[in-house]
Amino acid sequence: MIPGGVNSSTRYIGEPYAFVAADGAYVTDADGRRYLDYHAAFGAILLGHNAPVVNEAVRAAMDGVDLTGIGVTEVEVALAERIVEIIPSAEQMIATMSGSEATAQAIRLARAVTDRDLIIKFQGGFHGWHDAVARNVISAPDKAYGRDPLSKGILDQAVDATLIAEFNDLDSVVELFDRYPDRIAAVILEPIPHNVGALVPTKDFAQGLRDVTTERGAILVFDEVITGFRHALGGYQEVLGIVPDITTFGKGMANGFPIGGVAGRRDLMEHFNGRTGDVLMAGTFNGNPVGCAAALATIDHLASNPDFYTRTHGFGERMRQGLADIVTELDIEATPAGFGGVFALYFCKAPVLGYRDLMRNNDTAYVAFHRGMTGRGFLMLPMSLKRNHVCGAHTSEEIDRTLEAARDVLKELRTT
Ligand code: PMP
Repeated sequence: MIPGGVNSSTRYIGEPYAFVAADGAYVTDADGRRYLDYHAAFGAILLGHNAPVVNEAVRAAMDGVDLTGIGVTEVEVALAERIVEIIPSAEQMIATMSGSEATAQAIRLARAVTDRDLIIKFQGGFHGWHDAVARNVISAPDKAYGRDPLSKGILDQAVDATLIAEFNDLDSVVELFDRYPDRIAAVILEPIPHNVGALVPTKDFAQGLRDVTTERGAILVFDEVITGFRHALGGYQEVLGIVPDITTFGKGMANGFPIGGVAGRRDLMEHFNGRTGDVLMAGTFNGNPVGCAAALATIDHLASNPDFYTRTHGFGERMRQGLADIVTELDIEATPAGFGGVFALYFCKAPVLGYRDLMRNNDTAYVAFHRGMTGRGFLMLPMSLKRNHVCGAHTSEEIDRTLEAARDVLKELRTT
């Protein structure tokens, strides 16, 4: 009935899991197995599954205006106001239904306002499934930096209009600007590329991107679909102290309910104005009350509970430190990485700054570790170079339990 049995190409990992319940930090499968969840729906779960504060807001929204297809509702305005208040780069915001829609619109906007055709993304960065960005995400070493579209069916012109640079290597970006003068519309990046674990940007690199895009008249797009709301209320841009021109959101923003968003400078965002602008932004379900109410409740909860960040960051740090201790104890070639509540364990030696370093990662060990953990009831992303997420519902005891299991799995891996 469903191709491959699942509703996304990236959900098929061996036999598909079938889940019947989700609650807090746990999900339960059809055989009654309970998993402590670090997958978190690729990061869409932020506070914990079925967070009462979000679900109650959604129930209330369902009794209000459902969908009109014309005009605006209170909850849409309230959400936009909230985003403008908390996100440093946001002077205006439009809600979409997903992260991919948000990045597609951001790129179209950048091309429109600059009247240029090319964009730069980074090897390993993922910004959704659409043609402008569906290349050079996770590559085998022989494909990295080459012509590596994610799918068949993408026009050659779309692939060729997306240039690939190396994360944490400003020269690789400047070189593309030099090679294609006045043609680069935008640089788009995950400020921490979590789609390859967690490459943390150096301050110089991030500032360099801000400077070079300004100097060369290109738009700087921070894709905060994973980092937004998760790493700080104002996104990772708040942590960096760098203001991009455009920011995209999705995933954790509404704690599992579908929504995305594009925000940015007023003069840019006004191009989306249906009356006076020149860039089409449409979507029947944009600003739907369920997504907006869920996002508003999630953000309000984060804003009134700053201990969410102390707690998830603390647990993330404990996980990284605990893994580092185990790696030392067992003498394994591995490097914990991450930021805040996100953690990954690369199977190679430090330093891991960019994708070139990741070429040294032992993919087989990476996948075996995650599968070993999942087999023990700790749900982790079972592909190479993926990250794991601590959510608001994890407890101290669960972190300890996870580390104990990690020690057992790594010990087994060492001997096989
Ligand atoms: N940007 C980033 C950084 C992502 O990780 C993802 C999804 N993995 C997307 C955009 C696309 O979001 P969606 O799946 O909601 O379309």
